[in-house]
Amino acid sequence: MGGLHEGHGELIRLASERGPVLVSVFVNPLQFGPTEDFDRYPRTLEADRVLAQRCGADALWAPAVDAVYPGGFASAVSRSAPADLQAHLCGASRPGHFDGVVTVVSRLLQLVAPDCLWLGEKDWQQLVILRRLVADLDVDVAVRGVPTVREPDGLALSSRNQYLSSADRARAAALPAALRRADLNDPEASVRRSLHEAGLEVDYVERVDPFTLQPCGSATAISLLAAAVRCGTTRLIDHVFLMTRQPLVAIDGPAGAGKSTVTRAFAERMGLVYLDTGAMYRSVTWLVQQNGVDPQDAASIAPLLKDLDLQLRSLPGGGQQVLVNGQDVSDAIRSPEVTASVSAVAAHRCVRQALTAQQKAMGAKGGLVAEGRDIGTAVFPDADLKVFLTATVGERARRRALDLEQRGFPVPERSELEAQIAERDHLDSTREEAPLVQADDAVELVTDGMSIEAVIDALVGQFRSRVAEEAWPTPAG
Ligand code: C5P
Repeated sequence: MGGLHEGHGELIRLASERGPVLVSVFVNPLQFGPTEDFDRYPRTLEADRVLAQRCGADALWAPAVDAVYPGGFASAVSRSAPADLQAHLCGASRPGHFDGVVTVVSRLLQLVAPDCLWLGEKDWQQLVILRRLVADLDVDVAVRGVPTVREPDGLALSSRNQYLSSADRARAAALPAALRRADLNDPEASVRRSLHEAGLEVDYVERVDPFTLQPCGSATAISLLAAAVRCGTTRLIDHVFLMTRQPLVAIDGPAGAGKSTVTRAFAERMGLVYLDTGAMYRSVTWLVQQNGVDPQDAASIAPLLKDLDLQLRSLPGGGQQVLVNGQDVSDAIRSPEVTASVSAVAAHRCVRQALTAQQKAMGAKGGLVAEGRDIGTAVFPDADLKVFLTATVGERARRRALDLEQRGFPVPERSELEAQIAERDHLDSTREEAPLVQADDAVELVTDGMSIEAVIDALVGQFRSRVAEEAWPTPAG
């Protein structure tokens, strides 16, 4: 909406590293309530032009109202933001605001058709709502959120900071300070108290799930603590993310859906540790076979688990080395013999208990993306993102054939491969202990016809809808 500052400058700089940048400046009448500051909102086009150019923008576009709403904004066709996403935070105190936002952004996206839409995480609720808009309407645009830029005293940059008198400006820093010092035992009340003491009039202080924007408590590992206040005549908003651990991602799905490849690449891109739990079940299967034990015989498998020393080491480049009792079995566990028996071994309760406990311990602090069959349901039911990655049996058989060929194993007939895959699906999804099922809150991704890069991008998009850059920054490079 113009009134550009270094927060916008940061969006422009980051965007310009990736391609040509168009900066839109449009003070959208539809997103202001009748008693809000539409008339006095900063209109500083020449200064905006200078800042945009300095930060690397290729063009500045400041359309007239009738270019955006040809029939006049009062009679424009409009959209409404989802009721669930605007029930709290600013949606509750500014009725109609987000309807105006989704209406103007759909219109701007349609007029410009950009590859990428860059938005600040400062307005987290707006970012969540716009991601939903893009997803629901299948708009072909990548959405990127950028961390809030702050003044040295912590105040988040905002066009509205221009309204602050010098006395208000000094008091305004109490907003970020109160959020940063929230008492984790009762964050809302403690922030309210601090704001009150600083003489800021509280509009809301709420703790919500960053993705659903519904109120939550400390059971949600990463939550958004957000506040809006009035400082003099100026409305200010800010937030912090409260984290009880680092992010956890669960990727489940049937055999051969291409989970390992994309999960490994996704983990590397996001700076998360990659855990292939299938390799753990394969390792036990290998050990069972080495010891000449029947894969169906739980009683004979149990003793092997007692002395089991199973180690997974992350390799540079995203791979994983697997050691069983000190021996490197990384290749051996991929053999067709292990593949043929692994589902039987993995179905035993003793095996699942041992491996699930080890996986939980590995993920206790978060910072991990685990791939398997029961990660989102049994191992990490509180994962921040759960994905069910799948593909048709035909597609999975095609990928499996390629994989076997590359590893130098004999490649069976396609129909034979399809039958093997269908059989493994059946065993994994009908077993009693932790069967392969899609978690209720998992995002389903059917990857037929998608390139590996497209699947990774989809995972990153889903992750970023739930975990802000502010909470877990993408590593450089
Ligand atoms: O993913 P991958 O094909 O290596 O997994 C091998 C087998 O290990 C699966 O078919 C399944 O029987 C078992 N598994 C499991 N739970 C997991 C991961 C794998 O039961 N979390």
